[in-house]
Amino acid sequence: MRIFASLLMSASLAACASTPIATNAAPAAVTGDAWFDGAQSTLAQRKTVTHVKTKAKNVILFIADGMDPTTVAAARIYDGQSRGEEGEENLLSFERFPHLAMSKTYNTDSQVPDSAGTMTAMATGYKTRMGMISVKKESPVGDCEASLSAHAPTFVEIAEQAGLSTGVISTARLTHATPAATYAHVPERDWESDAALPEGAYEAGCRDIASQLIDFPYGDGVDFAMGGGRANFLPEDAQDPEDQERKGWRKDGRNLTAEWVAKSDKHAFVWNKAQFDAIDPAADPRVLGLFEGSHLEYEADRENDKAGEPSLEEMTRKAVEILSRNDKGFVLMVEAGRVDHAHHGGNAARALMDAQEYAQAVAAAYEMTDPKDTLIIVTADHGHTLTFAGYPAKGNDILGLVRYVNTEGENTLLPAEDGKPYTTLGYANGPGAVFKKGVDLLERPIGTEEEVKGVNYQQPSLVPLGSETHGGQDVTIYASGPGAYLFSGTVEQNYIFHVMMDALRLSPQTE
Ligand SMILES: [Zn+2]
Repeated sequence: MRIFASLLMSASLAACASTPIATNAAPAAVTGDAWFDGAQSTLAQRKTVTHVKTKAKNVILFIADGMDPTTVAAARIYDGQSRGEEGEENLLSFERFPHLAMSKTYNTDSQVPDSAGTMTAMATGYKTRMGMISVKKESPVGDCEASLSAHAPTFVEIAEQAGLSTGVISTARLTHATPAATYAHVPERDWESDAALPEGAYEAGCRDIASQLIDFPYGDGVDFAMGGGRANFLPEDAQDPEDQERKGWRKDGRNLTAEWVAKSDKHAFVWNKAQFDAIDPAADPRVLGLFEGSHLEYEADRENDKAGEPSLEEMTRKAVEILSRNDKGFVLMVEAGRVDHAHHGGNAARALMDAQEYAQAVAAAYEMTDPKDTLIIVTADHGHTLTFAGYPAKGNDILGLVRYVNTEGENTLLPAEDGKPYTTLGYANGPGAVFKKGVDLLERPIGTEEEVKGVNYQQPSLVPLGSETHGGQDVTIYASGPGAYLFSGTVEQNYIFHVMMDALRLSPQTE
């Protein structure tokens, strides 16, 4: 019966859409076989999918940092199981979108990419080198002077110049690579505050990432910016409002949060959940929200945050409410920045929980906008090394040990050749390595069932590395709304920018 419950839910989401969304719809009872009849319904719905070729008023670009197809498959099961379902039939919100393509993520100088190069590709239409923030590949990494003549205009800058409203949201620091590439230009992603600029860079004309958000020279400036990273916006003698141990990181004495507020009567700065909740969209505010000294909490830990933080879904809702007040439209970038961080830590549970929250943020944006005038793109910047393997029985806990149903019909652990159980999820490399100094090769460590399901468990990996690495596999682009049909086949990642510009009928400026 579980499968029918989940299929019916998909159908109700599709029913409220004015553009048909292909889905595993409620099966017409033809054969009584849920998957056979479900496929017939999906087929009928697929045939009604239209190509919306009209102009997009709004574009929302969702990026889950590091969310490759393996992470999506595991997250959909995790999401279903968190509601008591077996999980395999579940679909995350964006998996119901009608159009998709595969995105090739390599950087111009790296087979396996980083977030700076990949986000530059999506934000500017130019593929570039690893580590560079909206600077073209012609500039060497870290070369201030060369970078000054190689700035690549971003979709946020172009939209501001056209009079649209603009927003940037991340669960990472707002100065971290992905959000930074929407509004800043630096040849080295670490230049988050002036304290990180190398000697001579300021004099040569380069500016740190945080100051570029505040000094943004296009249109009337970025209208909505929320995430973490207060320290990059506060001077070194300023006490952090939430964390007694923390001071600002800036050496130039600038308090960028105060400078933001001083811009106009509409500009406001918030740093905790109560202030966030008090923001009144009807007052048409321009809001900077920085809810943590560095990155925001993982979704798994958010409710324990000292001063409280909004969720990714809550920030997305607030942004859409405020930005959609502009009749000319808006562009918004929303990043689930910490799927990547949890993977780097070899910690699948936190990655899946952040991916689940991301799917809810997408669902909120879809529900609050009209698919006739809003292009929603959902993708990742790059993959990781997560593996999803073994022969677990259907409905087995995605975070658990591999269990199967034996010939006697018993649900039991499936041992590996060393007689020990293993987990369904693992990593190719990372901190949970089974082969490392001091560990007997014949004594492969594995936790108990309870331990491996715990939120802090680091899944086993092969190659020992302190930080699990990115992957070079393709990631998926899911799309709904005007221009969404242009996503098909396997494309270069920088193609995403070109579709956004075409959908908005904006010229892709070349300098
Ligand atoms: Zn990463």
